[in-house]
Amino acid sequence: MTEIKREIPVLYLVVPCYNEEEVVEKTAAVMREKLSRLERENKIAKASKIMFVNDGSKDATLRLLHGIAAGDKKFSVVSLSGNYGHQSAILAGMMTARKYADAVVTIDADLQQDIEALDLFLQSYMEGCEVVYGVRNDRHSDGIFKKVTATAYYRLMHMLGSTVMTNHADYRLMSKKALDALSEYRETNLFLRGLIPTMGFPSDVVYFDVKAREAGHSKYTLSKMLTLAMDGITSMSVRPLRLIGGLGFLMFLFSVAMCVISLVDWVMGNNVPGYTTTLIVSLIIGGITLLSLGIIGEYVGKIYMETKHRPRYIIDTLVWREGEDKAGEEQ
Ligand code: UDP
Ligand code: MG
Repeated sequence: MTEIKREIPVLYLVVPCYNEEEVVEKTAAVMREKLSRLERENKIAKASKIMFVNDGSKDATLRLLHGIAAGDKKFSVVSLSGNYGHQSAILAGMMTARKYADAVVTIDADLQQDIEALDLFLQSYMEGCEVVYGVRNDRHSDGIFKKVTATAYYRLMHMLGSTVMTNHADYRLMSKKALDALSEYRETNLFLRGLIPTMGFPSDVVYFDVKAREAGHSKYTLSKMLTLAMDGITSMSVRPLRLIGGLGFLMFLFSVAMCVISLVDWVMGNNVPGYTTTLIVSLIIGGITLLSLGIIGEYVGKIYMETKHRPRYIIDTLVWREGEDKAGEEQ
């Protein structure tokens, strides 16, 4: 890659939080410490901040976040009007942060993603990358269920033509330029992990270790995970629709063959009742028809949601204070 000389960036960490009362204060302290260190090492500008996005938490998260931000101007809080889900929460954070930042890193609130990887993210940014993907080294901190389902999922995604990056889970740096480009994508069904790699731009990959959750439990329920998986496929690829077409064609060939067979049987005078054949054929056709309708319905539903042009998130409150962070001042 050609070396581009860049200014030291104003970095914003965007941290989505949904019911994270057990962990936010610890997270704030760890991130604050890391940001100060990066400032001292002249890797980021003094105006850098940590932006929490409260995704409609029902516990004390918002109160704690306001407390954290009240005591320290390094923190800001975007509070959404309800629970819009992880993808929309980070989008809200990124779209707010891009007004103030040169680069934004999205990172989970549970400290699972190694924050020390920030140095590598920044290094790639300084070398001219507009997007830097954090990719996890392995999955030893995951349970066997998540390990198996995740691996199968990435396989399926690639088979179905998605551009998603294996083992990359929204721990990512994006420059202001990349974020401005992302803001042009108006779709409601947002699957950032698949979308961002299609945007082009020089990019890089940084590997990091995943730790166990610092506190609390996973906020990705099975149903949220399934929705994300489904969105990942249907918002990035129409290959399932093509597969249905192919399946329909095979069924057509099959029924032609069955017609020929039964006609031959009839001519030969073999008028066996044929109960089993009839049953199997109608079951197969019924099953495939319903499955196909379901898949098509999934897309029609997506189209329906897209045509409404609804906002993808609504910001209820924004706590953001001009930092008294002019050059040389200690925070
Ligand atoms: N999250 C969110 N909205 C949701 C679900 C999760 O903002 O509806 C946040 C959550 O607070 C965390 C991040 O998304 O910061 C990742 O969630 P979690 O750690 O629970 O997922 P896992 O690591 O288990 O996949
Ligand atoms: Mg987590």
